[in-house]
Amino acid sequence: MPSYVDPEKCDGCKGGDKTACMYICPNDLMVLNKEEMKAYNQEPDACWECYSCVKICPQGAIFVRGYDDFVPMGGQVHPMRSADSIMWTVKFRNGNMKRFKFPVRTTAEGAANAYPGDKGASLDDECLLLESDLPTPK
Ligand code: SF4
Ligand code: SF4
Repeated sequence: MPSYVDPEKCDGCKGGDKTACMYICPNDLMVLNKEEMKAYNQEPDACWECYSCVKICPQGAIFVRGYDDFVPMGGQVHPMRSADSIMWTVKFRNGNMKRFKFPVRTTAEGAANAYPGDKGASLDDECLLLESDLPTPK
């Protein structure tokens, strides 16, 4: 089921040129109604429920109606990110609530580098990263 925005919570990312949800959506689905300063999913049929917009929204204003094999019927699942973890809140239709917190990284934000010795090396020639030791074709 596609994402939807709760207009009571959305503040249009305080009027920035590009809202967080517009920036992150891999399908360019989120748009901002500049008169109302509220975002919305302009093409729900094309939403693949990746949750990227849900996770990035600073106001927690975006929700996804989950399929019932993933979310209990009538329930809701909502993530909240921090710099090093994510907390998933599951609300059941009977009012019960469960929370699950997971670490999401082992390095400081911006510090991850899978190839520390090769960073940027492949930008200087036409070879791919792992081709850098091949002899130059004649
Ligand atoms: S990221 Fe959240 S607060 Fe910002 S425009 Fe989108 S829905 Fe509104
Ligand atoms: S759930 Fe994913 S595809 Fe759907 S609107 Fe949000 S970011 Fe885009």
